[in-house]
Amino acid sequence: MDKANLDIVIKNAIEYAKAYENTGMVASYIPELKNADKNALGVCIAANNKKIYKAGDCETLFTMQSISKVVSLILALQTVGKEKVFSKVWVEPTGDAFNSLVRLETHTHIPLNPMINAGAIAVAGVIDAEFPFSRFLAFMRRLCGREDICLNERVYLSEKASGMKNRAIAYMLASEGVLERDVEQTLDFYFKMCSVNVTAVDLARIGSILANDGVDIFTGERLIESEYALIAKTLMVTCGMYDGSGEFAIKVGIPAKSGVGGGIMCCVEDNFGIAVYGPSLDAKGNSVWGLKVLEYLSKELKLHYFAGSKIREYI
Ligand code: GLN
Repeated sequence: MDKANLDIVIKNAIEYAKAYENTGMVASYIPELKNADKNALGVCIAANNKKIYKAGDCETLFTMQSISKVVSLILALQTVGKEKVFSKVWVEPTGDAFNSLVRLETHTHIPLNPMINAGAIAVAGVIDAEFPFSRFLAFMRRLCGREDICLNERVYLSEKASGMKNRAIAYMLASEGVLERDVEQTLDFYFKMCSVNVTAVDLARIGSILANDGVDIFTGERLIESEYALIAKTLMVTCGMYDGSGEFAIKVGIPAKSGVGGGIMCCVEDNFGIAVYGPSLDAKGNSVWGLKVLEYLSKELKLHYFAGSKIREYI
């Protein structure tokens, strides 16, 4: 395959996506998220040649929301190990909405996977640190190579004030012994990790670390153990787009995690991290234009795990 000019490819991806009517809606169940620009769209690729390719709204700060679930899972694995983490959460897809609590009663009291709210709240409860959010933030700063990564206080307070469903989930988990620590403190950490501000460039960098087996290609430093990177990527494949994960796997076919802030973080093994920012969401909570961008990139660069290209040579 010819070397692709990634600058041109991502510009074309934006044009392709924007040609589709913006049918989605900005998330409003967390009131502060309503302020996002529905028509924003940014795409960034952090590649193994140590170059950052970007186009569109890549400097805009937005909150990670569910994308933080990948980082908190890795942090939990690093602090308490696999056995403890997977005694609190399973690794199976649900086919339900990200904030559903229905299976906690009908299926099992242990949440089905760490990429949905119930699972991420269970994971938040096991991280072994005196101040889990400080630890999370410090880890985020290393992953993004940026010391000024910080909390979006307004979004955090807005989610804390409106997060009744998450409260219901957390108390249900506590009643079954899944949450062992103070419920309100665990929820507070969960709301905070969802409310960390990032740009598409930051998320592309984290994606690139995952793509490189846990090593930061920009510094050469290993930030994630190989086994934990593998676990995170596998769960991104099976559960990262919630109840849209199957369709996404067919249409795009790379590990991905979305958030209701409008971000999608992806990785292409041994090649690069990709992030898209587009706050207009479909009914499942995934970025409408973000999905289109990724469909385009997957097709154009033959990214799908079953695309059949033996050697990928884009850069
Ligand atoms: N903070 C959000 C919530 O708990 C995260 C959900 C998401 O991004 N899908 O509802």
